[in-house]
Formats: sequence, C-alpha cells, structure tokens
Amino acid sequence: MRKKFIFITGGVVSSLGKGIASASIGTLLESHGYKITILKFDPYLNVDPGTMNPFQHGEVFVTEDGAETDLDLGHYERFTNAHITKKNNATSGQIYNAVLMREREGGYLGKTVQVVPHITDEIKKRIVDVSHSVDIVISEIGGTVGDIESLPFLEAARQMHIQKEKDVLHIHLTLVPYIKAADELKTKPTQHSVGRLREIGIQPEILLCRTERPLTDDIKEKIALFCNVKKEAVIEALDTDLIYEIPLIFSRQNLDRIILGYLGLKAEKDNELTKWKKIVYTLRNPDKEVVIGVAGKYVKLQDSYKSIYEALIHGGIANKVRVIYKKIDTELVEKEGIDKIIGNISGIIMPGGFGIRGVEGMIGVVKYVRENNIPFFGICLGMQCSVVEFARNVCGLKEAASTECNPETAHPVICLLPRQEEVKMMGGTMRLGGYPCRLKKGTIAYAAYRKSVVYERHRHRYEFNNKYREIFEKKGMVFSGIYPDENLVEIIELTNHPFFVATQFHPEFKSKPFAPHPLFSAFISVSSKSIF
Ligand code: GLN
Repeated sequence: MRKKFIFITGGVVSSLGKGIASASIGTLLESHGYKITILKFDPYLNVDPGTMNPFQHGEVFVTEDGAETDLDLGHYERFTNAHITKKNNATSGQIYNAVLMREREGGYLGKTVQVVPHITDEIKKRIVDVSHSVDIVISEIGGTVGDIESLPFLEAARQMHIQKEKDVLHIHLTLVPYIKAADELKTKPTQHSVGRLREIGIQPEILLCRTERPLTDDIKEKIALFCNVKKEAVIEALDTDLIYEIPLIFSRQNLDRIILGYLGLKAEKDNELTKWKKIVYTLRNPDKEVVIGVAGKYVKLQDSYKSIYEALIHGGIANKVRVIYKKIDTELVEKEGIDKIIGNISGIIMPGGFGIRGVEGMIGVVKYVRENNIPFFGICLGMQCSVVEFARNVCGLKEAASTECNPETAHPVICLLPRQEEVKMMGGTMRLGGYPCRLKKGTIAYAAYRKSVVYERHRHRYEFNNKYREIFEKKGMVFSGIYPDENLVEIIELTNHPFFVATQFHPEFKSKPFAPHPLFSAFISVSSKSIF
C-alpha cells in the first residue's frame, strides 16, 4: 500500500483541541484496520519542552525511550496503538539544529543553506522517517495559521501535497464562535483562517469546526461555499465534557469515511468502535462519585498535570466510579494550613514538580494524610516529599530535606547521585524514560501489578538516599519497588495505613482508558471505599 499523509493545522485561536482531534482521527483510522502514527511539530525554538516551566507549556510528556515531549503525545498514546518515540515530536529548534550541524559537517558544501529547501526538506524527512512501519502518518502542526514560526512546516506540507497529490490530505481545525448579542454562530473567522491557508498554497479538504452550538445546514453550506470545501466535509466539533466521546462524535458524521475516500483507501463496513461506546457509557453512568484532592504546586494550570487527570479517570473507569478533582494549591497550604483547605475528599494524589516553591506545603499535606489515614498516592516530587515528611516526623530527623530544596541539609534523604552532580547541561540530562522496577511480594504495589518486574517512565534528577533505608524500614516504611541495576528506590509504601503509596517514576504516562494503570485503579478503588 502507498503511504498516506494527513496534515492537521489549526486556525483562529489556540487551545481548540488539535491534539485530541489528531488522536481521535488516529482512533478512527485504526478502527478501519489501518496502522497509523502521529507526529507533532512544535514551532518554538527550544530543542524540547523539558526546560520550560509547566505554566508556560503544561505537562512535559515522557516517552518510553526517554524523550521530553509535548503533552499531545500523551493523547496519541492514550487514544491509539501508535508506537510513540522521540521521533514523534520535532521542534523548530531540533530541525534547525540538525540542519546547522549538517552544514558544519560539510553536508551542504558549496550551497547557501536556506529555509526552503533545506529546513523544509528536513521537516519532510522526519515525516517519511516515521512512515516505515505504518500505512498513514498524521502530522499535527502546532500553533495557529498566521504565526510566523509555523510557516516552514506549512510550506513543507504544501510541498508534500504537490509531490504526492493523491496521498496527502489537509484537515483544518477552526472555531465557529457563537455571538450572544446577535444570537448567531459566526463563520467569518473560519473564512479568514482558510483564506490565510490558501494564501500559502494549502487548500484544506476537511474542516473541523469547533463550536459550542450545533452547526445548522445553512452554516455548513456557507462555510463550504466560502472555504471551497464540500459540505459533507464541514464537520461539527461540538464542545463535550468527555474527550473519549470525540472519536464517536466524528464517526457519526462519517469523518472516517470522508478521510479514507479522499486518500483512496478502503473503509470497513462496520468499524470497530464498540469499546469506545462502552467507556463513554461507563463514564456517563458511574456507580458512584469520588472526590480526589490533587495537591501540587502547578494546580492553577489545568494542562500541568494532564496525564495525572487522565490516569485518575482511567482508574475511575476500572472501578465504575466518576472521579471529581479538588485542586489543592500547596503554596496556599503553606499560608493557610491544610485543615482550612482540605474539605471533603476521599483520597489525595500528589504529582511531580521542580524547585522549592510550594514544597513545604506538600510536606504538610503528606503529614495530614498519613496521620489521618487518608488514601495517598505520591508521584516523583510527591514521593520525595513523603520521604522527607517520614524522616522528619516519624524517624525524628528534624532537619531532613531533599538537597534540591536545601543543599546544606544535615539529613539529605533525597539527593543527587554522583553522576548527576557532574552534569552541567540542563536539557535532557535527568533520569528519563523507561526503567525496570522489581516489586516485593506481599506489598500493595505487588498486589496491584501482579507481576515481579514492571517498566515505568522517569523524569527526575534526585533519588532516595540509600543510607537512610534501614532507619526508615525500622520505622515501618516498605520499599516495595527497586531498580535492580543500581539498587535505587522506586516505590515506597506504609503499613498500618489504608493506602499510602508513592513512586519515584511517573505511572500516569502509561495509563490508557482501555488499560487503566494498576496503581491508579488500586488508589481509586481504596479511595472510593473511604468516607471522610
Ligand atoms: N524535582 C525532582 C527531581 O528532579 C522531582 C521531579 C519530578 O517530580 N518530576 O528529582
């Protein structure tokens, strides 16, 4: 079969859900038996988002092979079976870097190195690179049409259409806003956005129109006429509270068949979406609700803990429970104390983070949940805070701290390994990606995973200091998961507590709606039985 290429661009405003739309299109194509992959192009100059603040960029998603990538890759993994690696995310920084390195090596001897064709060739090369073991490559181009930064990516997409006309399809995600004063949906922003695309030589075949009200036939006709697309290719992307419903919403409008038609590919008579219908049903009709506190320093931005929120939903699916979050800003905990803020919750999850801000608040939350037997699940920095709290309040090591927060501490219970001490560069130098973890029998972790060895993803510099293991063990901490090659602590738990588990790795990155992560399922199961 000839390889097929789909480009997904966005118009009018950002945050329309291009990542989820791309992932949902991946779902639909897989439901017809095609093998797909999804690639995200980010127009910024950072080599990867690893050095950005979560408030700038949202969550940094980590792939199994240890790349720090855009959070949309999390959607691709959750929605599809695509094999996602570092090759699935490329930034302008990476692309310019590759071209400039090649120039220095003499790869372009005698030539003037230019955006067209050298940068655009590098972009196309990356698309072709990921196409080898799949039928269709979906490329999501970050940013909004009209941005200066995304132009080389759009130019590469334009060129590909000319070079492989029958094998390339352009889909544009746009906004059709509802204007209250006029009581009308407005098509003008979409017309302008498509106009901008056509100025650069791209005529999208399909429009996904994000809207808060259903599109009438008249509106669809108008968009079709002014944007030069067929009426049936004007797809309504109505707001929904459930992202897992989006493949179904698109499929009801035949988006899968329209795409396959344009690409000249066969469609199955009945595409396989039953499992999606089932999870949507479970999410809409849960047996009960559970309120989980999310206690961290980046709670103000919804995108900072994207995979955590999704993994909690998956844990809910496994238990037929609707998970409701209560965000607990640990900086506020420092000012006001946890008692005032905590309210009615059945469990607390504590996500990762960097730097000292809000950490004392996190430690305060750990003390509260430990003493009050509230189910607790700590992740990365959340695990490190649990260790510090236990050292201070159970082991009597009052000055215990992580050396990330206090390099001079008398009790560095969390510290750098010697090899990390030597690291000077900031980008891509943490412990990153998948590592094995050996589980101890008879622990909560073992009961959840039901396996002796699991692979989990990492993104951190600091580690548990093994010098303190014995003291901790004597006081009741169990080290239930260990990275065997270097004898590093991966999972801690407490006995005589309903559920106190914390991991140095990030289990949230591997949870999927159809394969909820065992630790998230166990945490939600225990939390939904606790009434506080
Ligand atoms: N800041 C901590 C470290 O670098 C924790 C990182 C995290 O939570 N992802 O080890």
